[in-house]
Amino acid sequence: MIGRRTHDPERDAALYVSGEMRSTDRRRFEAHLLRCDDCWREVSLGRDGRGMVEASREIAPPGLRDDIRASISVAPVPRRLPRRLALVAAVVSVLAFSIFGAAQVRSRHQPPPIAAALTAARTETLATRGPSELPAPNLSSQGLQLVMGELVDLAGLTSDAFMYRNTAGEAVLLFTSAIPFPVAHDASRLVVGVNGWTAQSDGMTLVCGDRPMNYLVIAQDPSLVGLVQRGLVTEPTPS
Ligand SMILES: [Zn+2]
Repeated sequence: MIGRRTHDPERDAALYVSGEMRSTDRRRFEAHLLRCDDCWREVSLGRDGRGMVEASREIAPPGLRDDIRASISVAPVPRRLPRRLALVAAVVSVLAFSIFGAAQVRSRHQPPPIAAALTAARTETLATRGPSELPAPNLSSQGLQLVMGELVDLAGLTSDAFMYRNTAGEAVLLFTSAIPFPVAHDASRLVVGVNGWTAQSDGMTLVCGDRPMNYLVIAQDPSLVGLVQRGLVTEPTPS
């Protein structure tokens, strides 16, 4: 569908931005975008067109959402790739966030940074602002492998975000920041002697503390949260 003579930039870009393109075609089209100015312009226009992005939220099938989520979660764009390739990823991110934007509604009773962190954990998606400020804590002694680490903006709160997975593939997110995290709605204080809180929201467990740094851990499985906490205390803090 993307032959030089026969292809239709307007149609292909619309299919791509709307999420109607099948995954094999989409990958081919993303490669094509890197060298075709016509298609690139159409996708850029489509990306900026609110109507098209809005439409994509309605029609993107579940398989596509998973596909986009997986492509963002496990394959962050290497920082040295050409600008246009990074922008292709940005287009996919915009699409993903228009889809996952709806998920944030449920967390509205939370302080905005907590709601943003919950959305990131639930969708296993990080909107990167650049490389993390600190290296990722090594939690391999807890059986957790680092998937990605990025600098993120949690509704105005700048934070490092690290995603780990256990051997079963379950994800846990660790946020660390120079700024204390706000307290989640309906949180309970941690045991005496530890300054922090724990809360449940949207089927996720959250734990926040301030030693050895301000941290917020979120996972569906509470035991994963505990593993990260233990790892933070026992592992030497990277410097
Ligand atoms: Zn083209």
